[in-house]
Amino acid sequence: MRKTRIAGAFAGIAIAALAFTACNSGTPGEPTDPSGDGGSTGDATWFTVADPKPTVDGSDTVKAITARGKVKVGVKEDQPNLGYLDPATGERSGFDVDIARWIAASLGYDEKDIEFQPIDSANREQAIVNGDIDYYVGTYSITDKRKEQISFAGPYFVTGQGLLVAADSDLKGVDSLTADTVVCSVTGSTSIQRIKEETPAKTVELSKYSECVEQLKNGQVDAVTTDEAILIGYAAQDPDNLKVVGEPFSEERYGIGVKKGDTAFVEFINTTLTDGGDIWTAIFDKNLGKAGVKGTQPKVDPVG
Ligand code: GLU
Repeated sequence: MRKTRIAGAFAGIAIAALAFTACNSGTPGEPTDPSGDGGSTGDATWFTVADPKPTVDGSDTVKAITARGKVKVGVKEDQPNLGYLDPATGERSGFDVDIARWIAASLGYDEKDIEFQPIDSANREQAIVNGDIDYYVGTYSITDKRKEQISFAGPYFVTGQGLLVAADSDLKGVDSLTADTVVCSVTGSTSIQRIKEETPAKTVELSKYSECVEQLKNGQVDAVTTDEAILIGYAAQDPDNLKVVGEPFSEERYGIGVKKGDTAFVEFINTTLTDGGDIWTAIFDKNLGKAGVKGTQPKVDPVG
């Protein structure tokens, strides 16, 4: 219902915009949420669905998407404000999920044409290498090591590693970790690697950050470490029992993971991000800004 209304309202804008942008869309529709509910239901509120679908010459990924008529996107679903699946309503929300929707829209695919696949941190590269997904948007830091297996578009966001502790904890930040502190993080993440390499803390490694948060609430671990943007979401869900402490102690530049060497697709995504500053801001404000996360849109990396 809402989708139809919005599509109708912005069809003219979309067509006019397409005339100017040749092969890239995802042009601003209305960078405010007309429903006023602040919740994302997958409607194309923040961007228009490209019609006709653009051609992306030389991209094997887009060729496969076109043949299939669906977009397969890897996401997280236990990270509030970033990549979240509401178990009660079945709705996906969050900054990363909306970025994923925006890219799909710029390729000409609406919510009903997106197949979201939850993929844990440890399994991201393999899912992209295997072609299980067309792209991945889920707090995925751009690193040289990962670039040996896949390519990244972006960055589309920059955050830093932090610490989540119990509200009554004495831990003040990364410098207060000792050999007696037990810190939980996730296999295959930059967070677990850094905490092992740079602090004396004992570590517990699980598959999902939400599992670490459960252990923290149960008193099984003293802290959870990963990117602040993620931790702020967990703290906001349970402010009486959890708090984020200290200053961020790394720089995590979030990229969109795609098949290695698909530079045409990387360039297409980068153009969407670069041309869509208003959309980025709307998506950011709605999901992360509202939650108290600070940030501005970073410049994308040169391709190659
Ligand atoms: N951004 C970090 C990483 O890509 C931590 C968050 C995550 O595991 O998704 O490893």
